[in-house]
Amino acid sequence: MSGAVITGGCLCGACRYALDGALAPGGLCHCADCRRVTGSAFGVSFRADKSALSRTGETRVFRKRADSGQLLSRHFCPECGSPLYTESEGDPDGVFIKAGSLDRPDALTLERQMWMASKVPWADIPADIQTFDKGR
Ligand SMILES: [Zn+2]
Ligand SMILES: [Zn+2]
Repeated sequence: MSGAVITGGCLCGACRYALDGALAPGGLCHCADCRRVTGSAFGVSFRADKSALSRTGETRVFRKRADSGQLLSRHFCPECGSPLYTESEGDPDGVFIKAGSLDRPDALTLERQMWMASKVPWADIPADIQTFDKGR
């Protein structure tokens, strides 16, 4: 029996990926780099083995050293700009996939948050703000 195939990709569809095996639990990162690269309050990603990942479409890569000292290679779609996954020199066999790129993001579970020291107050969604089932 083969493992479940997890799929995902960018907003325009030029970059797609498939992953063999189970979806690992994800983590939130509140560091300033993840905030900028996502344009949102925090990054959400999960680790996968690089060997389990198959990709179609050519990504562009932005490289920047993290506060940890590790050089990170951030892959994004050159057409639509969607962030897709990050490679770290500290984990050459792994890849950290942006959870929002999943076709089934609801399947993800979370297990940790990092960089709480730089978390913004609006990362917590107030329970009493206006809500709409679809766009306003
Ligand atoms: Zn794209
Ligand atoms: Zn981060």
